[in-house]
Amino acid sequence: MTRDETRARDAADPLAEFRKGFVIADPELTYLDGNSLGRLPAAASLRVREVVDAEWGEGLISSWNAGWMDLPARIAGKTAGLLGAAPEEVALADSTSVNLFKLALAALRAAPPDRADLVTDDLNFPSDHYILRSALDLAGRGGELKTVRSPDGISVPIETLAAAIDARTALVSLSHTAFKSAYVYDMAAVNEIAHRRAVKVLWDLSHSAGALPVDLDGSGADLAVGCTYKYLNGGPGAPAFLYVRSELQEQFENPIRGWFGHADPFAFDLGYQPGAGIGRFLTGTPPILSVAAIEPGVDLLLEAGMDRVREKSVAQTEYLIRLWQQDLQPLGFRLNSPREAERRGSHVSLAHPEGYRINRALIEQLRVIPDFRLPDNIRFGVCPLYTTFEEIHRAAEACRRVVTERLYERYSPERQGVT
Ligand SMILES: *Cc1c(COP(=O)(O)O)cnc(C)c1O
Repeated sequence: MTRDETRARDAADPLAEFRKGFVIADPELTYLDGNSLGRLPAAASLRVREVVDAEWGEGLISSWNAGWMDLPARIAGKTAGLLGAAPEEVALADSTSVNLFKLALAALRAAPPDRADLVTDDLNFPSDHYILRSALDLAGRGGELKTVRSPDGISVPIETLAAAIDARTALVSLSHTAFKSAYVYDMAAVNEIAHRRAVKVLWDLSHSAGALPVDLDGSGADLAVGCTYKYLNGGPGAPAFLYVRSELQEQFENPIRGWFGHADPFAFDLGYQPGAGIGRFLTGTPPILSVAAIEPGVDLLLEAGMDRVREKSVAQTEYLIRLWQQDLQPLGFRLNSPREAERRGSHVSLAHPEGYRINRALIEQLRVIPDFRLPDNIRFGVCPLYTTFEEIHRAAEACRRVVTERLYERYSPERQGVT
């Protein structure tokens, strides 16, 4: 596709108007890292100022009763609309890591006493591995973390996963979309396999939420957590979400009991009484500034509709893969994401032996921002609400230049800082 055709494609894009809802401080910057930190919605910038100046500055403590107390649950209810969940099944709190810990430990403790092991895979986010191990340690049943190996670093065959779930398994915990390869599990199929063996599944939706339609209720999901600062554009370190299916909420106990999970926090009763419903999985005071910043990004996705978002995401990742095939494969780039669109999330990983140095040259010389994940992956994230076909074209062209003109050679292979 020529640059003109690319522009025509952007002009015909039914979601093109949504880009105007985001702060694009520098139109020359090609930003393909919304899978790590989504762009700033213009409305979030205004909203945060209002919360700071009017609600905090003027309203002071009275703002808790004038809306802050209900704010996290209200925005969680909207977020549920992107996840195929009911509003009363989703809460916003803490970080993804902390929520994963709370739900993993709750589920391990609620499992039958003869079941202690936790099953995951080696595509899962390393922090999830650390958290799952700490939950296993604290559960105190001597359970093991059984890590299913991906044969190709891209995907895990569902039969291989199924074979790892047995009578000792207390819980399965997986990233729905793998952070390196973007491989997407068939959520309904995994839930069914686990449920047949009476095992619950805890999903990490960090790279799925806002990137593709998720149907937690419809796929029979039990538990889930996920991030709001990636495809939901909620802002750096924004609180995460957690999901517990309605019927299961009373069966699990929050291992970090605090006053916000209490049935009546302002009774200041020294005894703990868990709240009814999803609120029992809360712990302490919500970070209101960060919570408020989440709403505009969620609103934009709800307005666009996840089906349309997914349609454009697939068109854009397919486009990047075509450009790879044409121009980049001959230069030593390997496709490290599933070729099949149905099993691929909203980013494309291109691996190259010089991946780290190529990534630096892209950022520092050609103003193209992907990110780098060891050992050799350059991830190109597509956020259909603001990513253009032209940006994808520019990114592929930049990769070609960095290699053919050897622009990467001026960097040392030593890694530094946030990649
Ligand atoms: C981004 C991401 C996280 C982030 O966790 P934090 O607690 O916000 O640092 C966790 N899990 C996965 C799979 C992620 O992609």
